[in-house]
Amino acid sequence: MICVYTLFSGSSGNSIYVKGDDSEIIIDAGKSCGAIEKALNALGSSLRKIKGIFITHEHSDHTSGLEIISKKYQIPVYMTAPSYDNYVRGGSYLERMAKREPVSYEKDVGSLHISSFPVPHDSAQNVGFVIKDKDCSFGIATDIGHPTKEIADKLSLCEKIIIESNHDIKMVESGPYPQFLKERILSNGGHLSNDKCAELCAYLCDRGVKEITLAHLSKENNLPKLAYEAVRCQLNCCGFENVALKVAFADIAVEATGGREYPFPISKE
Ligand SMILES: [Zn+2]
Ligand SMILES: [Zn+2]
Repeated sequence: MICVYTLFSGSSGNSIYVKGDDSEIIIDAGKSCGAIEKALNALGSSLRKIKGIFITHEHSDHTSGLEIISKKYQIPVYMTAPSYDNYVRGGSYLERMAKREPVSYEKDVGSLHISSFPVPHDSAQNVGFVIKDKDCSFGIATDIGHPTKEIADKLSLCEKIIIESNHDIKMVESGPYPQFLKERILSNGGHLSNDKCAELCAYLCDRGVKEITLAHLSKENNLPKLAYEAVRCQLNCCGFENVALKVAFADIAVEATGGREYPFPISKE
């Protein structure tokens, strides 16, 4: 069995906890060592039990706690070569603990089989992951500049997924960000909008995805209710009322494998 929780999600920091039958890993370490340890403790775990840290990409909202955590707890870190070259300083502790991997790589950590795939984003490299054991498969993709066939193909192999639903396009356009930042978010190397996420989710549900957690929501350019409604409406329109849909909180753990619907009523207007 695989249990997955978003511990932290969004531009203030990202980390996902994955618990298998005999091993535990985290995806990204974009919060302080203390914050991640506290979040794991609340779920009955600890960084002492974590057997690997898998990094999607080198941006600070995914790596800010990485060096201290890997040093304090001696946890192996897996990064793609472009992210490693961009992020790991010569002579740093991370140079010893981080493994420089190809963009598409596979690892076994106990019963968990982890494989990566490329995701377009304006980092040196970004990847998503498919995590499998003998019973199930779970997919993760965030910081998606634009949907690709490879993302769709990889996530459609999974029963449950975490996927980015970063922003509402109107909120970005009318919001307070400077023009260059608006253009970056909306570009092919930025982040996935609620509408594009909804389209991709409908495609994935048609291929068998049963449970979705929306993640990496922008604090300034989105609302949990907007993201939820955009995807829920699209899924319902396509006949996928039974697919469970949740929204990750920025700072509170959400179980992505719990089967429980996040309770946003769909507005009637
Ligand atoms: Zn990023
Ligand atoms: Zn990010």
